[in-house]
Amino acid sequence: MRREQVFEFFRRLAEANPSPTTELESSNPYQLLVAVVLSAQATDASVNIACRPLFARIKTPRQMVAYGEDALRDAIKTIGLFNTKAKNVIALSQALIDDNGGEVPRTREELQALPGVGRKTASVVLNTAFGEETFAVDTHVFRVCNRTGLAPGKNVDEVEAKLEKIVPQPFRRDAHHWLILHGRYTCKARLPECWRCPAIDLCRYQPKTLAPTSRPARTASRASSKARTAKAQTASKPKASRSRSRPNRLP
Ligand code: SF4
Repeated sequence: MRREQVFEFFRRLAEANPSPTTELESSNPYQLLVAVVLSAQATDASVNIACRPLFARIKTPRQMVAYGEDALRDAIKTIGLFNTKAKNVIALSQALIDDNGGEVPRTREELQALPGVGRKTASVVLNTAFGEETFAVDTHVFRVCNRTGLAPGKNVDEVEAKLEKIVPQPFRRDAHHWLILHGRYTCKARLPECWRCPAIDLCRYQPKTLAPTSRPARTASRASSKARTAKAQTASKPKASRSRSRPNRLP
């Protein structure tokens, strides 16, 4: 995408959602860090379900260490990789107590030195808790950046480096959230919902997905037999057939 198209892409996502943020629930940077660690290869919704009762009683690293690995494992057992994650959360909580007075550090180096914290987790915490202009690339961001031509890359590092370079102000701080939410709810993995995408004319992905009402025959084959019969009857009338075949309004 050209520079002015990149600006317009984010302007439209910003217009549609002026205050984007993470869908992980937390009440302080420590809880956010734990939630992001738990969200690896799991959905935000599943993490929120497990963490609501946990975070109601655990708000600090000291409380987490006192809670203990066995209790934590039980509390998060509905989340994938819960054994390893419980170990990491207890270890990182102990490290925060030992090395940082129980506070979440504000530098990437310190964050990535914690057990279970990689570059993506550090980026999310730096961005969401501390307002840094970081570009965490998860599966949604990777897909949107490649499909659209916004920041194509063979791996997450390449995509992140391109985003660093091309995302303009005033969108740098929230770009990561806009891209995740766009990928999660509109530019979906299996079938992007191009017909309701605010950036459809800027995106290079082809062919664009048509609105369900504009899609041809194959959709109808899944309809109920009653609907199929009604459709067949209508199809025999030339005028009705024309009205059903709506023109494709997508570019
Ligand atoms: S037009 Fe379609 S493929 Fe392109 S960003 Fe929008 S939803 Fe994704």
